[in-house]
Amino acid sequence: MPIIDSPPTPPILAQQSAIVIDIGDADTAQISARKQDAHVRWWLELGDQLLLVGDRGEVRKAAPDREVLGEMVDFDRDRLRLHALGCVRESGAPGRLIAQGGRWELRELSASELAKPLPSTHDGHSDEWREVQPDTVIAERYRPESAPAAADPAIQSVVDSIDTVRWFADLTTLTGWDRSSYGSELALSRAWIETQFNGLGLTVSAPAFTMPGNSGGQISVNNVIGKWTGTEFPDEWIIVGGHYDSRNGNIHSTVNAPGAEDNASGCASVIELARVLVDFEPKRSILFMCYAGEEQGLYGSYAHVSSLQNSGDLGKVQAVVTMDMIGYSADSTLDVLFESSSTWSTYLNQFATAAATYVPQLRVTLSSNPFGSDHVPYLQAGKKTLLAIENDWDAYPDYHSSNDTPDRIGPNAQAMGGAILKTSVAVIADIAGIRDRIFVKGFEATAP
Ligand SMILES: [Zn+2]
Repeated sequence: MPIIDSPPTPPILAQQSAIVIDIGDADTAQISARKQDAHVRWWLELGDQLLLVGDRGEVRKAAPDREVLGEMVDFDRDRLRLHALGCVRESGAPGRLIAQGGRWELRELSASELAKPLPSTHDGHSDEWREVQPDTVIAERYRPESAPAAADPAIQSVVDSIDTVRWFADLTTLTGWDRSSYGSELALSRAWIETQFNGLGLTVSAPAFTMPGNSGGQISVNNVIGKWTGTEFPDEWIIVGGHYDSRNGNIHSTVNAPGAEDNASGCASVIELARVLVDFEPKRSILFMCYAGEEQGLYGSYAHVSSLQNSGDLGKVQAVVTMDMIGYSADSTLDVLFESSSTWSTYLNQFATAAATYVPQLRVTLSSNPFGSDHVPYLQAGKKTLLAIENDWDAYPDYHSSNDTPDRIGPNAQAMGGAILKTSVAVIADIAGIRDRIFVKGFEATAP
């Protein structure tokens, strides 16, 4: 490789100024114009918020005032950290909030805050505080360049079979038990989930695993698996999962943990997807799964991945969809975040385009910075995996609270959960392969 004399890179000035602008309604061309503006030295995109950094007094020239949400004068990039939004918020994260989007927030910390270890959630699996890399997309709104693809009539028929009233009824049933990992009622909810899967003709198992107990030692809890065996490709597996355990503000509490949004909404979704999909006799196998032990550190999904490794079945897994908190909407806009890793950007796009075709009212944000839910163990095992989560979850006042009850998820719960269910079922039906409904047994009996 030839040695080329290159000019020295200009030093990054420690003292710069930044603005945060709202790009919620901007198009792709407007956003790239802001990023490339001559007054901008570097940028960071967090969903609907864009941080623009430049010299003091200059950077404001890169955006009209009406777009500016906030300003930071004279800051030091070394003191900025990206923080994964999660349980630590309850005790107050250090530093000053600058911007947020896609389950991440940008915080400015003082030198003394940085001198101490930064607080971490109890799960210990997440890289929760990250340094800022300039010119990076943390999460971005899906902005299609062209009109959505036409609906496939066979997939449309699956999408139309999603029953949001039935889903919300299942969600409500699940909230009737305190589903704390440590309480006596978790097993009752597990038995009910098993009954639902059995009623659908799935092969049901409830493998036990251990996790740390509430007062030392280990406890044994169970995942629940309802397996559909594929009619044509039984050794090609798709996993559809969501955790059924819950918690309130005190993670050790064994009572008052109804967990409607977190995560009866996701667990009921797994059941609803099973109810719909078995009618279409998928060609590939589908493992419908409800995990335990998520709240204390993703123990159920980690246990499942290690059991797949031990049985040699990991290679059969072609795709994974997990759902965590899909019912709340802070306003009438239906927002979803689809999260995976950058390896699986095509998979992320598959969900975005399915939404554009089958649920056009759904606003989609995509993130390639995964953390802190049941998608993580599968991603770490190299599997194509996605998390679906509604995008207002951090605004939900009853998150991890004893008030996380069905009535608190709000009037849009069925529309919000339904939009995510319909998008998910469209993708799963496509990758699993389905029979045309006309051939599915029993259809003739109900046809007019
Ligand atoms: Zn959850």
